[in-house]
Amino acid sequence: MGTYRVAQVAAAGEPFAVVERETASPGPRQVRIAVEACGVCHSDVYMVNNVLPGIRFPVVPGHEIAGRIAEVGEGTPDLWRVGDRVAVGWFGGSCGVCHPCRQGDFIVCRDLKVPGWAYDGGYAESVVAPFDALARIPDGLTAEEAAPLGCAGVTTFNGLRTSGARPGDRVAILGIGGLGHLAVRYAVAMGFETIAIARGQDKAGFAQELGAHHYVDSSDPSAVAPALRALGGADVVLATATNSEAISATVDGLAPRGELVVVGIDAVPLAITPGQLIMPAKIVRGHPSGTAQDVEDTMAFSALHGIRSLNETMPLAQADEAYQRMLAGKARFRMVLTT
Ligand SMILES: [Zn+2]
Ligand SMILES: [Zn+2]
Repeated sequence: MGTYRVAQVAAAGEPFAVVERETASPGPRQVRIAVEACGVCHSDVYMVNNVLPGIRFPVVPGHEIAGRIAEVGEGTPDLWRVGDRVAVGWFGGSCGVCHPCRQGDFIVCRDLKVPGWAYDGGYAESVVAPFDALARIPDGLTAEEAAPLGCAGVTTFNGLRTSGARPGDRVAILGIGGLGHLAVRYAVAMGFETIAIARGQDKAGFAQELGAHHYVDSSDPSAVAPALRALGGADVVLATATNSEAISATVDGLAPRGELVVVGIDAVPLAITPGQLIMPAKIVRGHPSGTAQDVEDTMAFSALHGIRSLNETMPLAQADEAYQRMLAGKARFRMVLTT
């Protein structure tokens, strides 16, 4: 059947090497996808550095996959056919038998299949994925535009639409990088009074370009809550920044019954006292991406509202360079590998 190239890491923390593999047919209820684009997400670090349980080397990360179905395994519903344009994000399938799955809450499956962790991911010309991981890409989006929506896009879109915020409410987005710049655009399109929070006055203009109604400079974390309160308090803060100090600093800027939705990862504990939460009845919750249907909804909403991830693309052969750029924080937005 020929061969395809993957960018793999042979052992924890090693650089990426591009190698050829034999193409294999998909098993039952799986499809083989000819990958056209794959986003480089900060969470790929957890696979590459062997931080998650059950990682098997060599590792091929990549959970922001966009391409076309090249081959369909037996037992796959007729909904999916060769040539269909599909995306696979962080949600790469679920077990179907655990308690959350049996309740239909697939994103918190106890055996969630994340591409690059449960099976080889999208830093490759070809990926085999279970059909329940597939999201249909709308005509209005290219593969490069669709890819980051499978993680960065759906995480922020879903984090906002599952929050308590209603049109007209005040929503603050902490961080305007790979996730945050999309979050600001989604928040505006969803009808929220949108506050962008980032470090430095130099980002104020960019926040405005994204459509934010207000900008708060978080260079001094202690100034963030007073600034949010001066605007009336945030009904929701979506924290995309990977910095616990910055996340914690927003809590006193929430309105009563306000909700802090955390999607940015940091190993440092959040510094929040019970007293900050109890009397004003504030909520702090984590939010984990979204299912294949959520990815599809995210892509449709993005196409409808002209919302695009700002990407920097590189060919698959330069996967190591792209990954290092992402790690070093040199990529202004999303690195996307193309085949
Ligand atoms: Zn991700
Ligand atoms: Zn499950």
